[in-house]
Amino acid sequence: MELLICGSGSSEAMPALFCDCEVCRKAWKNGGKDFRTRTAYQLGEEIRIDFGPDAMLHRAKYHLHYENLRHLFITHPHKDHFSPLEMNYHVHGPMGPAMLKDHTLTLHGTKQVLDQFRQGLVKDFSKMRMELDELEPDFGSRTLENGIRFSFLKANHFCEGAINYIIRLPDGFTFFIGTDTGRFKEETWEILKNNRFDLMVLDGTAGLLDIDGGHMTAKQVLETVARLRKEGIVREDTRLVTNHFAHCGGMLHEDLEKFYLPHGIEPAYDGMILPLGKKDRT
Ligand SMILES: [Zn+2]
Ligand SMILES: [Zn+2]
Ligand SMILES: [Zn+2]
Repeated sequence: MELLICGSGSSEAMPALFCDCEVCRKAWKNGGKDFRTRTAYQLGEEIRIDFGPDAMLHRAKYHLHYENLRHLFITHPHKDHFSPLEMNYHVHGPMGPAMLKDHTLTLHGTKQVLDQFRQGLVKDFSKMRMELDELEPDFGSRTLENGIRFSFLKANHFCEGAINYIIRLPDGFTFFIGTDTGRFKEETWEILKNNRFDLMVLDGTAGLLDIDGGHMTAKQVLETVARLRKEGIVREDTRLVTNHFAHCGGMLHEDLEKFYLPHGIEPAYDGMILPLGKKDRT
């Protein structure tokens, strides 16, 4: 199984919509890894994490078959991570995708996410072959029919109902999706220290900015990784990745590589594939 990083940008993407700053101009010129769509992740064919305004672009770029999705986990209600209107097309009938598979799509999210879903609903929910699963932000978990376990913990973000995920595959491979969080609070460290991660995807949104809370700066990522190593939460062979980069962080992909790679951390990019599972690891 693989984790596909569908998007690696923050809310305004990169080059940012409506922006002509130096970073965005260079990103336009460079293209490639400097072209970042809104952050989202695909876990195999059936599981998706976040479904924002670039979901259609991701479908086209990576040939994703959303009709096969069974589980949609939304990290938080911000619009770059969840476009509730799109969910209306998951309807069964002549005007919708009549070819929808018989299985249902379960939308997993906190109350704030599900409220947004309901507000964006213009179709008859009973025809949508969807189920809603309200997640408590404090360390709860769900085990899916394929044995994959999602546990969730409160993110340090700008809104209520924002969560990070600890995901454990049936073979024990354990990874963390922690984009859209500032520095971890002590209560989060208490949970993290009970885990030994094989892979962690950390928030690197704020780059060179000097902020505290909501997102991490590049310096805060290094501090976080130092503590993760010190507490044995990650080991030498743990793959460490940063993601969700904003133009205002002031770093192009080349800058991110220069900054992070010497510390054993990889900056993500759109289309990055991370092999999962004890056997598949490279
Ligand atoms: Zn975001
Ligand atoms: Zn810009
Ligand atoms: Zn956010």
